[in-house]
Amino acid sequence: MMTDTLQLAKALISIESVTPNDNGCLELIAQRLEPLGFTTERIDSGAVSNLWATLGDEGPLLVFAGHTDVVPPGSLDEWRYPPFQPTEDGEFLYGRGSADMKSSLAAMVTACERFIANRLPAARLAFLITSDEEGQAVEGTRYVIERLTERGEKINYCVVGEPSSSERLGDTIRVGRRGSLSCKLRVNGIKGHVAYPHLARNPIHEALPVLLRLSETHWDDGNESFQPTSFQISNIHGGVGANNVIPDRVEIDFNLRFSTEHTSSALISHIEQELSSAGVDYECEWHVSGEPFLTVEPELITVVQDCVKQVTGILPDASTGGGTSDGRFIAPTGAQVVEIGPCNATIHKLNERMRITDIEKLSAIYELILQRLL
Ligand SMILES: [Zn+2]
Repeated sequence: MMTDTLQLAKALISIESVTPNDNGCLELIAQRLEPLGFTTERIDSGAVSNLWATLGDEGPLLVFAGHTDVVPPGSLDEWRYPPFQPTEDGEFLYGRGSADMKSSLAAMVTACERFIANRLPAARLAFLITSDEEGQAVEGTRYVIERLTERGEKINYCVVGEPSSSERLGDTIRVGRRGSLSCKLRVNGIKGHVAYPHLARNPIHEALPVLLRLSETHWDDGNESFQPTSFQISNIHGGVGANNVIPDRVEIDFNLRFSTEHTSSALISHIEQELSSAGVDYECEWHVSGEPFLTVEPELITVVQDCVKQVTGILPDASTGGGTSDGRFIAPTGAQVVEIGPCNATIHKLNERMRITDIEKLSAIYELILQRLL
């Protein structure tokens, strides 16, 4: 038997919403929320679609947050089933967005439908859904939070439906995330012939010692809540292709995932100091995708852990691992933010899939959270 949640998840997966093109997903969600009494509002910006839907006018505010956009499917030939034709096969539902995170959106909606059929909430409930989480993430949740802050809107609790679980649904919830800092570093030199190095200045040679030093730096030990800060070089481009030419520049991309032991500005000044003291001629293009955040108040974490345990029998691990999420834009407002969603083993990959029985379980978890907080 096809449940409501599965049906809605399939309807959402059928919509080709490659970031940042929502392509009608939000409309579908709004159409389900409006009959429940939600006031829906679009807070779009540029090519990005954002939905803000609220119910009730008094009491603390609980927000369900998520995104309708998906990463591109990649090579279509390698998918077992077409990525935008949700297909059940054995225990799994295949399709782009099945795990990240259209099943979560469907589960949140049907959880509200069941909850509101029983009683009216005693506090405020809202949905903040964007179509720009997988892309630039500038005009999505971040933009909506700016607008809400201007209006004096205060979020107390936020449940994000990102795929937080690893092996089994509910084995992990995320209560924070590391910060992420990227840099495009350019080291300049003077072009020349390899046979006449005294007439040139080799930027690769100048960059190597300082890159080695950075790659071997012990940034911190992490702390109770965070893994140690890590520095990783992802790309090095240098040279003109000919093997007898010293190039005039080399470009290096690197990223730091950092704990609350650091701030992005402290890391930037440390690295620029290293580069300056190495005497290299450099330019840095920095991008901070988010400072680290951590929910320290136990309230929402405990509620989510209890609800997961009640449905799945597992007490989830409260982790801060993994990539960044839109929680980074919501947590700085003072909201307690917890991420609870599907297993993440296949997200962003070919043949992304979701265990079918997990879809209804996830909806049951969200419904219990509503019962506890509203
Ligand atoms: Zn996601």
